[in-house]
Amino acid sequence: VDGTNEKQKGPDLPTELRDELEKLEQQFYVDRKKLKQISERFQQELEEGLQDHGKNIAMYVTWVLGFPTGKEKGDFLTLDLGGTNLRVCWINLRGNEHEIGIKQQSYKMPDSIKTGDASSLWSFIASSLQTFISDHSLNGAFSNPLNLGFTFSYPAIQDYIDQGILQTWTKGFDIKGVEGEDVASQLRSAISDLNLPVSLVAVVNDTTGAMIASSYHDPKTIIGAIFGTGCNAAYMDKISNIPKINSSDEIKKLDPETPMAINCEYGAFDNARNVLPLTKYDEQIDATSPRPGEQAFEKTSAGLYLGEIFRLIILDLHSRNIIFKDQDISKLQSPYTIDTSLLSNIEDDDTPDLSDSGNEFKATFNITMTQPELQFTRALAKLIAVRGARLCATGIAAICRHQKISSGHVAADGSVANKHPKFKKRWGRALGEILDWSEADREENDESGEGDESQKGPIVLTSAEDGSGVGAAVIAAMTLERWGKGQK
Ligand code: BGC
Ligand code: MG
Repeated sequence: VDGTNEKQKGPDLPTELRDELEKLEQQFYVDRKKLKQISERFQQELEEGLQDHGKNIAMYVTWVLGFPTGKEKGDFLTLDLGGTNLRVCWINLRGNEHEIGIKQQSYKMPDSIKTGDASSLWSFIASSLQTFISDHSLNGAFSNPLNLGFTFSYPAIQDYIDQGILQTWTKGFDIKGVEGEDVASQLRSAISDLNLPVSLVAVVNDTTGAMIASSYHDPKTIIGAIFGTGCNAAYMDKISNIPKINSSDEIKKLDPETPMAINCEYGAFDNARNVLPLTKYDEQIDATSPRPGEQAFEKTSAGLYLGEIFRLIILDLHSRNIIFKDQDISKLQSPYTIDTSLLSNIEDDDTPDLSDSGNEFKATFNITMTQPELQFTRALAKLIAVRGARLCATGIAAICRHQKISSGHVAADGSVANKHPKFKKRWGRALGEILDWSEADREENDESGEGDESQKGPIVLTSAEDGSGVGAAVIAAMTLERWGKGQK
């Protein structure tokens, strides 16, 4: 039967744990039929988002009008507001992919900023820019002002490329005074408060950046996708396929065949909760998140949440005295203490008796695990990761179906894609199940099979090039070109 390869014979467990594992398997395993059903609904939601504003999946136009030629030139500052760090780069595009120059620096964001207010966010960003400019002696040495591409990886409406009206924070951010506002103008005023010689050219989503940076080198790129703390994808459509922007004056000036990069924002898929196989743990995550009801799909599959789902299950089993009996589990009580890396470490542990995992649990949570608990925990980590990877395939399959694309490269970035060794094959296996690939192509992605960790088939995941550095710079260069201000 299709997909059963993922459901290999489990470990030998005492009856109580065995029964629990079976119940969890029933809740977490998404079979081929269900995958197809989810992906069909996914495609409908993508298409609804192109029709009308304000749908579950927003399908934002990005004003990136086509793929780069690879000849884009110029010197650019880029900024990436990530989850824990702010990355600033100085990128020199020389019209030749092999000669890109990069200087970069990460600045640790104080945790308090994530839940603070707009002014602390923007002044932190502007002062990091200031430090970077002075450390690299950029002031006066180059074009004045310095052109900036700003990667802002949250849902933002763009009526222009140098604007981004934040709709809602995601990924646990909760900064007051930014939702409903234009992040470009907030950043501009912080830049001008410090008199920095910087001009903001483009606001870029990380998915669009990944797609453009990758296609700068690789013409087979069809999609840019992030499987990281959050999840989302961008692809290139044509404006005649985007009825909701028909009446815009900017659009009327363009040929209907003009390509337009779309930032799907598909983390919001199925916010109406009609088709996703949500468990009580998923409901718990949603209810206690800063934005309940939002990002339904993201909360089942993105890196921020995988460890948290695992933790909630463990806590549930402990409260029913099924696991970690008589142990002090207080260190497991605080939310979001389990990183995705812990899940992949347990899955990958090849020490006899899983002693590495046992040690990691002891060191991190001061819990001493029995052999069956270790085996159970490993099976649980796998269940959660497999569900995540399989669900992640439904969105990309939906984009491919919508675009009638049957081959190409999905340029992927993010901690789950890069650091969870089995993610790519699991994802590929599921994609093949949804898109009805030949059995041979599907089997290539069986994780039980020999060979490397890379995914195989007509549509493959590639490691995205630096989206928030090179990608944002290329987009800024394309924009200046379009405005007639390109650097020669
Ligand atoms: C954001 C997207 C972003 C994705 C990956 C989501 O939470 O809404 O804009 O692309 O995370 O970083
Ligand atoms: Mg990022």
